[in-house]
Amino acid sequence: MVQLMEKCTIGLDVAKIRADFPVLDQRINGYPLVYLDNAATTQKPWPVIDRIRDFYAHEYATVRRGVYSMSARATMAYDQVREQVAGFIHAASPHEIIFTKGTTEAINLVAYSYGRPFIGAGDEIIISAIEHHANIVPWQQLCQEKGAVLKVIPANEAGELLIDEYAKLLTDNTKLVAVNYVSNSLGTINPVKTIIDMAHERGIPVLIDGAQSAPHMAVDVQALDCDFYAFSGHKIYGPTGIGVLYAKMKHLEAMVPYQCGGDMIESVTFEHTTFAKPPHKFEAGTPPIAEVIGLGAAIDYLEKLGLNNIQAYENDLLAYGTEQLQQIEGLQIIGTAKHKASVISFVFPDIHPHDVGTILDQQGIAVRAGHHCTQPVMERFHIPATTRASFSFYNTHDEIDRLVEGLRHVIAVFR
Ligand SMILES: *Cc1c(COP(=O)(O)O)cnc(C)c1O
Repeated sequence: MVQLMEKCTIGLDVAKIRADFPVLDQRINGYPLVYLDNAATTQKPWPVIDRIRDFYAHEYATVRRGVYSMSARATMAYDQVREQVAGFIHAASPHEIIFTKGTTEAINLVAYSYGRPFIGAGDEIIISAIEHHANIVPWQQLCQEKGAVLKVIPANEAGELLIDEYAKLLTDNTKLVAVNYVSNSLGTINPVKTIIDMAHERGIPVLIDGAQSAPHMAVDVQALDCDFYAFSGHKIYGPTGIGVLYAKMKHLEAMVPYQCGGDMIESVTFEHTTFAKPPHKFEAGTPPIAEVIGLGAAIDYLEKLGLNNIQAYENDLLAYGTEQLQQIEGLQIIGTAKHKASVISFVFPDIHPHDVGTILDQQGIAVRAGHHCTQPVMERFHIPATTRASFSFYNTHDEIDRLVEGLRHVIAVFR
């Protein structure tokens, strides 16, 4: 155990990292907080909090409108984050980066602006059995509206997608494939490169829901060759209310605007409007300026730690947590894929996940209990809900021990 800890902290000074996150330093119900709901949202480090505060205190002005110095300066800071995001996911150009409210809005934007014009009656959209509702409902609604068909890649008992079955679903009518990189409820890392290559052999574009990959691993959208990639700021230690849609320029040029109004136009008369070029074509109205600035600080923070260091450390937490939880009598882990991110969902045969979550909370341990916005996943495993512990680089092996201790207390209460 000591050896494991030494090995895994190479590259990351977790004690120092924890000092960057003020929220972690508090007691909940008399116990030091153990925050294990990172797949739902992540806490914010001082550099993000300070950057937003400083921006509002000293630099705040609108962007892309003012001739005055402050607006020009805010615009520069804002545009610089777009370049930073492009670098973060290795997009070919910052013009391929659209700021949205989050992953949900990014996927809805594609369903509206790409789906409406290019998907029609009899066409098919492929998603997977382990998607978040955000990557199910927009496609389902589009299919209902257009008379298109939604097809689902099935998953095995481990929560891994069946690629042979996926191959059979691809047809000449398939117009889009939309899958997550990492499942938020099971932790499965999907073989998205294979999924993308198989679709591209037939000229079918692929959307990757990157909400759970962005925090855990370095992503290169050009190497993946995905057509669309979406993620949320609040899950990568940045603010709420900001997310990113990456799309290849050829798609952005062909797509229709998502919302209309100021900032997305080139010229307007009462008879006719010409739209601005991407990305502005998809960013109607005053953008979430401070949130974008905060997102930049979050990406900066992650890149300083190094995504590869983060992934290595979180993998160790996952291995240790899995090993420890497996020793708890009656506990069953849901989601046992070979390739997983640091998410552990589990159930007890005789204790409801909400009761598990409530008793853990009484001991200062924050986990998620429920369906995690993936009701079809729960149905796939014939369970109503799970308890989910999801780890970040600021979590420690000691905190996993606290979780194990907490679960033993849960069992003692109920048996
Ligand atoms: C959280 C999440 C979403 C939705 O993200 P929002 O920030 O709520 O818009 C979509 N997909 C996955 C896999 C997620 O984990």
